[in-house]
Amino acid sequence: MLIDTHVHLNDDAFKEDVEGVIRQGLAAGVELFFVPGWDLPSSYKAQELSHRYKEVYFMAGFQPENLDGVQMSDLNRIAELSDDPKCIAIGECGLDYHWKKDDDTKTVQKAFFLAQIELANRVGKPMSIHARDALEDTLELLSAVPVQAGAVLHCYSGSAVMLERFAKLGLYFGFDGPVTFKNAVKPKEALTACPLDRLLLETDAPYMAPTPMRGKRNEPSFVRYVAEEAARIKNLPLREVEEKTTSNAFDLFHVKHD
Ligand SMILES: [Zn+2]
Repeated sequence: MLIDTHVHLNDDAFKEDVEGVIRQGLAAGVELFFVPGWDLPSSYKAQELSHRYKEVYFMAGFQPENLDGVQMSDLNRIAELSDDPKCIAIGECGLDYHWKKDDDTKTVQKAFFLAQIELANRVGKPMSIHARDALEDTLELLSAVPVQAGAVLHCYSGSAVMLERFAKLGLYFGFDGPVTFKNAVKPKEALTACPLDRLLLETDAPYMAPTPMRGKRNEPSFVRYVAEEAARIKNLPLREVEEKTTSNAFDLFHVKHD
């Protein structure tokens, strides 16, 4: 059994065939699909999918690149969404200085990240954290204000050394398609350094399809390629990687699924 712990089934790329994509995932051994929001509409869409498909669970939150025009009071809607029994986390939230790195952008992103950490702590949920080109600030913020119910650094893109610093805070690490790319030295080193009991598998579909599907629309069924690469790098049977990452996902997200 596999879980795709970060898959945007709420993205327009799946508008036409989301049911078929879920069915293909199930056929490939993916039994659960965790769908994060990146703003309010996508969080509501994720909720709707979780009500339509029993294998889908959702997260609600504001991703740092989607804060234009967002008010702090909009977080009240996220808090309401988190009341839903199928809401397993606040996310995806965090810091992203890839495209914009001016001081104003950083200040706004940090304020919303901090407010969403506080929200998660208030409602007792874990978090899915998006951190791109902003790992130092992310580490600093999480050290100052820890997520009490735990968190995953989704699509981990940092070094092995940085991973070890985050691991000391008790974080989980999500690995995705890039770790399967042939020349992806840094992600492979990070996965090598990732403790097995902190490892989560994800696709971040529809983006970043793994080898050998690179260039295509990514789909949750492709999480298998990430699992296979993790087994290869960790020199473990695939079955053990599946079991361990699945139990990690249950430990962090407390999904009650039967
Ligand atoms: Zn994402």
